[in-house]
Amino acid sequence: MIEIGKHIEGIEPYKPGKPLEELERELGIKNAIKLASNENPLGPSKKALTVLKKSLAGLHRYPEGSGRRLREAIAQKHKLKSDQVILGNGSDEIMDLAAKTFLEPGDEAILGDQTFSIYQITVAAHHGVGIRVPLRDGRFDLEAIGARVTPLTRLVFICNPNNPTGTYVPFDQVKRLQNSLPAHVLLVLDAAYAEYVQRNDYESGIELVATTDNVVMTRTFSKIYGLAALRLGWLYGPAHVVDAVNRIRGPFNVNGPAIAAGVAAIRDTAHVEHAREHNARWLAWLTEEIGRLGLPVTPSVANFVLIHFPQDPGRTAKDADAFLTKRGLILRQVGAYKLPHALRMSVGTEEANRLAVQALKDFLGTAA
Ligand SMILES: *Cc1c(COP(=O)(O)O)cnc(C)c1O
Repeated sequence: MIEIGKHIEGIEPYKPGKPLEELERELGIKNAIKLASNENPLGPSKKALTVLKKSLAGLHRYPEGSGRRLREAIAQKHKLKSDQVILGNGSDEIMDLAAKTFLEPGDEAILGDQTFSIYQITVAAHHGVGIRVPLRDGRFDLEAIGARVTPLTRLVFICNPNNPTGTYVPFDQVKRLQNSLPAHVLLVLDAAYAEYVQRNDYESGIELVATTDNVVMTRTFSKIYGLAALRLGWLYGPAHVVDAVNRIRGPFNVNGPAIAAGVAAIRDTAHVEHAREHNARWLAWLTEEIGRLGLPVTPSVANFVLIHFPQDPGRTAKDADAFLTKRGLILRQVGAYKLPHALRMSVGTEEANRLAVQALKDFLGTAA
């Protein structure tokens, strides 16, 4: 038999939100509403779709390998240097490239204990050791993280805002952590939800990348830009880091239609603004309404809420998930994130949000 590497054996596969087609195939539920993957409920930019359709005529051509046009559009929007931007097939690929570039067998990467599960998978896949540091009051504990740095530490992943809690750490704390890191440690700031944050003390990482030489920031088109299916993410980092990652990046890792659509999406500021306003309104509404049902909600600055359930039989997160699923509402179990008593719910359309709150109310009523 082919032997599997020891480092691979221990990896728990990533569990995505239940796809709509699976609900239809397995349970016969049609027209379900997916609130499990933090997708944009308003969909993609219409301008991006127009460009995407046009780009299909060029499918026989290899894309321009570095995605120059999109890197320049990103650079213009965020006032960066385009040669310090790398595109990825989703920011998942960016995480993987970082681990692949910088980890040697046995090296350590520090991550939150309740955070995006991709970091652990990618670190283990590249023979690294994930060091999990518990959150404190639902937030990344940057002091505790700083205290776990050793000569073996090469990477620190900070998910800010954090998935699945929706909490964030203010810029001054991130800066203090960066300041305390030895020069051999690369700080990876995953700012997948940055566009949603409306807090004066938050900074996505752009300033820190620009002013230091051991920080990278990752971003995605999967969330506020509503282009999750195209697989498009990016990294902004210091020139020497970008140079190292570019040596091993697949030469055509991002496809041509995605590059073209990404340019149109990033220029469609009205669509992003609309999505941001929709989210701010309904995030507050969901937090309030669900809280009023007696279910604690972790205060979120992103496009999802973490809802906590009791552990009494019939009222648990698993029971609630089954109840909601039968109504065609797909939320996300977060047991894999070590939160077995919670469900994560994305902010949806007005209709979806109202249906979800009503379903939760009915669930609690039934169980009583
Ligand atoms: C959704 C998400 C991403 C985005 O991943 P893509 O591969 O770009 O789709 C990255 N980080 C976190 C924490 C996320 O929740």
